[in-house]
Amino acid sequence: MKKIGVLTSGGDAPGMNAAVRAVVRKGIYHDLEVYGIYGGYAGLISGNIKKLELGSVGDIIHRGGTVLYSARCEEFKTKEGQQKGIEQLKKLGIEGLVVIGGDGSYMGAKKLTEQGFPCVGVPGTIDNDIPGTEFTIGFDTALNTVIDAIDKIRDTATSHERTFIIEVMGRDAGDIALWAGLAGGAETILVPEENFSMDDICDRLKKGSERGKKHSIIVVAEGVGSGVEISQKIKELTNYDTRVSVLGHMQRGGSPTASDRVLASRLGARAVELLIEGRGGRAVGIVKNELVDYDIIEALETKKHEIDMGMLKLSKELSI
Ligand code: ADP
Repeated sequence: MKKIGVLTSGGDAPGMNAAVRAVVRKGIYHDLEVYGIYGGYAGLISGNIKKLELGSVGDIIHRGGTVLYSARCEEFKTKEGQQKGIEQLKKLGIEGLVVIGGDGSYMGAKKLTEQGFPCVGVPGTIDNDIPGTEFTIGFDTALNTVIDAIDKIRDTATSHERTFIIEVMGRDAGDIALWAGLAGGAETILVPEENFSMDDICDRLKKGSERGKKHSIIVVAEGVGSGVEISQKIKELTNYDTRVSVLGHMQRGGSPTASDRVLASRLGARAVELLIEGRGGRAVGIVKNELVDYDIIEALETKKHEIDMGMLKLSKELSI
C-alpha cells in the first residue's frame, strides 16, 4: 500500500483531530502518502480530496471538532453513491481508507469494504455506542463537559433548594447519562436501556425530602424523553417544582481531554498499521486498555453496544 485516505463523518467528536493527526503522521512515518477527504462521504463523492503533509496536521491535537469537516450524506447510502466514492479514490491511486466516525459512518465503511475497497473504522463519537470497543474518542471529553455543567447546576440547586432535571445527549445509548450521573452524584439517572416509572422517580424524591434532602439532580438521556415532560409529570404527581436544563450541543465541543487525545492517537495509528499489514475491513477499539481489531462487517451485524448495568445499579445504591 502506497497511498491511503482519511475522513471524518457523522457527528463530530472532540479528539477526531488527534486521530487525523495520528493517521497522517503514522502514515508518513511509514512512507505512505496520506490524503484527507474533506466533508465526510459527501466530500468523497464529489472528490474533495487533498494530499496532507506533516505540517497539515500541526497544531490540531488540542482542538475540538474536525479540521477535515464532517457531513451527513444520504447519497452515500446508495450503491451508486458508494461506487462514485470508490472511483474518486481509485483516480488518485488511494488503496485504503480510514473512517473516523460513529455507527452510521461504520455502515458506510462496511459497504465500501464489501465492494472490495478496504476500510478501517476508528470509533469517533461522544455517545460511546460502538460495538467492540469499551470507549470511543470524544466520550471522555463530553463526560467532563457534562460533569462541569452538573457541578455548576448543583451549586444553584443547593442554594435555592431545588430539584434539577438535566437532559444530556444519548438517543439510543445512555452512557453519557450513566457515567456523568454517577460522577456527578445524581439522585436519579434515566437511560434508554432501562424502563422507568414516574412513580419510582417521585418516591425517590419524596424519600429524599423526608430525610431532609433539599435538592436533587435527575440526569435524563434524550432518548428517554424530554426533561420538560418529566418535570411536568413530577409537578402533577407530587406538586414539587423542578427546573430543567438541556445541555445540547455544548456536549460535542471543546478541547479533548488527555484521555481522548491518547486514545485517538493510539487508535488512529493502529488503523494505519492494519492497512499496511493488508488487513482492511477491520475496526479498531480498546478493551481492558489493550488495542483490539475486529471484522467491521461482523461487528455491525452481530455485536451490540451494551450499557454497564452494574454501574447503573451502583448509581442507585449510592444515591439512596
Ligand atoms: P454517525 O457516524 O455519527 O453515527 P450518521 O449515522 O449520520 O453519523 O452517519 C454518517 C454518514 O454515514 C451518513 O450521513 C451516511 O453518509 C453514512 N451512512 C450511514 N448509514 C449508512 C448505510 N447504511 N450505508 C452507507 N452509508 C451510510
